[in-house]
This record gives sequence, structure tokens and C-alpha cells, in this order.
Amino acid sequence: MSLLDRHRAVMPSWMPVYYGDDALEIVSGSGRRVTDASGRTYLDFFGGVLTTMIGYDVAEISDAVRRQVGTGVAHTSTLYLIRQQVELAEKIARISGIPDARVFFTNSGSEANESALLMATNVRRSHQILAIKNSYHGRTFATMAVTGHRSWSSSALSPLSVNWLASADRLRGRMAGLGDGDLIDAAVDDLREVLATVTAGDVAALIAEPIQGVGGFVHGPDGLLGAYQKVLAESGILLIADEVQTGWGRTGDHFWGYQAHGVTPDLITFAKGIGNGFALGGVVGSAAVMNAVPAISFSTFGGNPVSAAAGNAVLDYVLDHDLQGNARRMGSILMEGLRALSYDILADVRGRGLMIGLEFVRPGTTEPDPAATVRVFDLCREGGLLVGKGGLHGNVLRLGPALTLAEEEAREGLAILIDAIATADTEFR
Ligand code: PLP
Repeated sequence: MSLLDRHRAVMPSWMPVYYGDDALEIVSGSGRRVTDASGRTYLDFFGGVLTTMIGYDVAEISDAVRRQVGTGVAHTSTLYLIRQQVELAEKIARISGIPDARVFFTNSGSEANESALLMATNVRRSHQILAIKNSYHGRTFATMAVTGHRSWSSSALSPLSVNWLASADRLRGRMAGLGDGDLIDAAVDDLREVLATVTAGDVAALIAEPIQGVGGFVHGPDGLLGAYQKVLAESGILLIADEVQTGWGRTGDHFWGYQAHGVTPDLITFAKGIGNGFALGGVVGSAAVMNAVPAISFSTFGGNPVSAAAGNAVLDYVLDHDLQGNARRMGSILMEGLRALSYDILADVRGRGLMIGLEFVRPGTTEPDPAATVRVFDLCREGGLLVGKGGLHGNVLRLGPALTLAEEEAREGLAILIDAIATADTEFR
């Protein structure tokens, strides 16, 4: 029985595996490349959904983890002081941009958002939350309720009262002749209208991804979150920035995605890249919010010594090697190469830094074309490049390579991608 058949026999049917009947088993990685069980090596432009943020087999990370495991006391729950955890919290608090910040560690992004929602609802004594359509915030009870994708959410069973804001779609805005200023005005009107009509006025928080990840790297104009916050502040509503995909310099111009918006969130949630493959997430927020929460108990594994050791090594690496700067430079190479393309099926190239989305449509329309998208996706793999898929209609390819990407790798991936788009364009035009 193949590994895929065994997987299908024991995992729930909805577990996503790329490439269907031709699923890959990745057995090792080095730098920005992974090798599958058949021995074929691929350039990885998705890094396990932006998870292996600084690449595979990085000596500094492996050594830090090995040292921690080598102490023999690899994990004692969080009942005792954990030096690695305190040190990581100090660094994250310092770099968060939030004055007098406190940090709470979890094992995942879902738990980080779950904790942030728990904190916001407790502090504000309200279970009303605003979320953005097309968002993804996780797979737990509350985070699914604020996830604006039917296929990922179960909001009918929500413990929260959730109201939805439109996701600013710049592609369709552009096509309708709307500029960024118009989109911000429309978004603020939408927020005011939602607050005045369908909420009871005592909303706890707005949760938003600075760039919607699973939603297909959709992002509103710079300044949008700041414009929202002006309105939110009138009623004391908190802003939660979900930086699970956008944090740690990935967006190139900024360390955090929220920094493109002239705003400081009350709570920031993080996960994925900070562990570079080890399970680590958390919430950083103002002491005023974090300390006001009734005790939510500890997390047995959240910020455990092994994950915290990885997190410290990752964050040091990101800062010491200016990976934010590298994300900006490599992102520009990819963005310039992709934006120069003119193919009927390719409607939009968007994102920032090393977070780039390509949206595919039926030529001459704004109608999503998931089939053309899958074709490009498969052709990329044939050419030796792994990329991600996403978007509400499955018609967006997502590029999120490790922030250590080298220029020749950026150009190599770009060439494979361009060939794939050109071939698919002749087939789907
Ligand atoms: N928030 C965002 C923006 C995400 O992209 C994800 C995962 O893809 C999550 C939260 C959930 O994180 P996790 O899968 O670690 O629970």
C-alpha cells in the first residue's frame, strides 16, 4: 500500500494534500530546496505555507535545538521558569512596536488567535467581533467563526457574534476605476454602517490579516487598518492584527504587516515562521489588555524550551542577517519579473516582499479560473518548483519562499513560473 493510500485510510477526508493522486512525500531539505522520496529535488517557493521562514537545515537553528534537547530537561511544562521563553518574550516584546508589551506563547496560529479573541472578549465584556470576509484565522472553534471562507469555517456553531466587513479587492476596484483612496473611503463607510446597523454597539475587537494569506494574498491599500482604527477607537474597540503569515520581515518594507497602515494594534498574533518548522505561536499585546484578562491558565506546550530555543535562534537569524532587507530585494526581483508579463489568464500580481500572489481569470473577464491556476501549479512542479494555491475560488498562486532566498534562486524560480504561465496561457486563452 502506498503512503498516500495509507494516509487516506487513516486521515479525515478533508485533510488537504497537494497534487492529489500524485502527492509528494518530502523527506529532506537543505537551504531553499526539498527532496522527495523518489530523490527528486525541488526549489521550494512556499516553505510549507510560509513556515520554514529561513530555509531548511539551518545550522544555527538545529544547533540551538540540539543544545536544548541535550540538557535532558527538554520540557517541564510552564510551571517553572524557562530561560529560553523569557528571552524570546523579551525580544518579541521589544520588536512588537507595542509599548509595555506582554507575550503569551502557544503552539500554533489558531491557538494564538483563539487566545487573542479570548482576551479581547474578556477585557471588553462582549462576545461581538468584527472580521473581514475572505479571511483565515485558524481551525479552532472561535477562529473558524472569524474565518470568512465557507469551506474553512463553521460559523453556524460560533461561540462569538461575528459581523463581517468587505475585503478590499484592489484588482476589481482598479477595474471599476476605483483608486486606493476610494477603497479606503468605501471600507470606512462599510465599517461605520456595520457598527451602526448589525452590532449592539459594544464590539470587542476587529481581527484582520494585514495581507490575507489563505485568501490569496489579497490586501487593501496601505493605511486601511489605520483608517479602521480611527473609527474603532471612538468606541474603544480593540484591533487584533493576525501576523501569522505577514510577520518577521516577510513583507520586506516592514517587520510587521501592520506597519504599512500607520497603526499600532492592541494585540498581534504570530506563529508559523518564528519556529521555522517547530511548533510555536503566541500573542503580544499591551499590558493594559493582557494583564486585565482573568487568568486563562498556562499552555502545557506553549513556549516549551525546545520550541522557544528554536524561536530565539530564528529571530536572532532574521535580525542578524537582515532578512527583512533580503525579502525586500528578492521580492522586487520577483515582482518586477512577474509584473512585466502580459498573459490573458494572469489578471493580477500583488503582495509585498516575499509574499506574492498571482490571480488567474478567464481571459477578458474577472471570472476566476481555478483550472488554469491548477495547470500552472502542476507545470511549476514539473519544472522543479513548488508553489502554493489559495484564494476563495482557488484561482491564486501564492509565492512565499524562505526569506533567505538567493538571487539566482529567485531568477530560477521566476523562469520556471514564467514558462508555466506561458504554456497554460496558450491552453486556456
Ligand atoms: N492565521 C493565519 C493568517 C494563517 O495563515 C493560519 C494558518 O494558515 C493561522 C492563523 C492558523 O495557524 P495554525 O495552522 O498554526 O493553527
